[in-house]
Amino acid sequence: EYRNVGFIGLGVMGLPMAKNLARKLPDGTKVAVYDLSTAAMDELSQEFPNKIVKANNAREVFSHSNLIVTMLPEGKHVSSVYMSSETQLDSVDLKNKILIDSSTIDVETSLAVADHVAKIDSSALFCDAPVSGQAQGAIDGTLAFFLGISESHGKYKVVSDLVRLMGNKDKVLPCGGPSLGLVAKISHNYLAGVMSVATCETMDLGIRAGLDPKMLYRVLCAGAARNPMVEHANPVPGLVPTAASSNGYKPGFRASLMAKDVSLGVQMAQTYKSNIVLGAPTMDVYRRALPKYGGYDFTAIYRLYADDQNG
Ligand code: NAD
Repeated sequence: EYRNVGFIGLGVMGLPMAKNLARKLPDGTKVAVYDLSTAAMDELSQEFPNKIVKANNAREVFSHSNLIVTMLPEGKHVSSVYMSSETQLDSVDLKNKILIDSSTIDVETSLAVADHVAKIDSSALFCDAPVSGQAQGAIDGTLAFFLGISESHGKYKVVSDLVRLMGNKDKVLPCGGPSLGLVAKISHNYLAGVMSVATCETMDLGIRAGLDPKMLYRVLCAGAARNPMVEHANPVPGLVPTAASSNGYKPGFRASLMAKDVSLGVQMAQTYKSNIVLGAPTMDVYRRALPKYGGYDFTAIYRLYADDQNG
């Protein structure tokens, strides 16, 4: 069933994910790949000359593969790959094909693509399958996958077997029907984004009021406020040697992506009428940080508070 696999979107996440597929899929399997940038396709085909087939566009990938993964930045890119006049998916034979989208995008776009695919061929499946675990997780093949399909679905096994080649098998989580993988991912990152701002504010508050940063770290880790943003990704340089803050805020997970994900949470709250209030001030912090720190790790938002201190 793996004879023809496809992968579209070979960026920070997609390239190492495609490498894991090429490495782990049985001999004889072909992986058709496409990205707007040819450099990533060239790198793959040089590393796996017997498995990788470079495609000229997304349409070729959909035509030649029966199991396709997409890993694109935002909803507009996913729409353009699946629904544009250039791809013309409606004239591709999609019979029994499985299309897995691992991009973190808005629920509306994902549901629209799922609908589009189902109308073209009801035997085809479009499944949202966003990931958690950052670039290192993609390289190591230890990503968590949140799947918009239930365990009882007839195609669940094929989907989960494929994503396990790129992920941690204990973290492949069937979240329910279409878009619920995204609901899971967006909820997860909403909390991560809010928690990152709350952690920066707490560190700034305690330090300005005279507490030694190392003692504040020990205090926060000793009580109920302990969380991964404090303990592992602490934004204050020098407290956690492996944290991005101690390494020039090199990402990690870029502040611009965290901002995108929190705003997806705010958008989802509007769609589903949730009265969340912390999204707006969190977005305000990220919006102020993005011009200077968008390309750095998300924990660099701490500079907004700390830099003030110096002038
Ligand atoms: P990226 O910008 O590095 O890569 C996206 C790739 O898509 C690029 O190579 C780009 O050329 C390609 N692309 C864009 N439009 C295309 C099109 N029409 N046809 C073909 N290729 C196209 O992004 P990334 O960091 O790999 O993230 C991808 C998704 O994964 C995002 O939704 C992001 O939020 C999510 N994500 C990222 C991380 C992370 O740590 N980077 C972690 C979890 C989830």
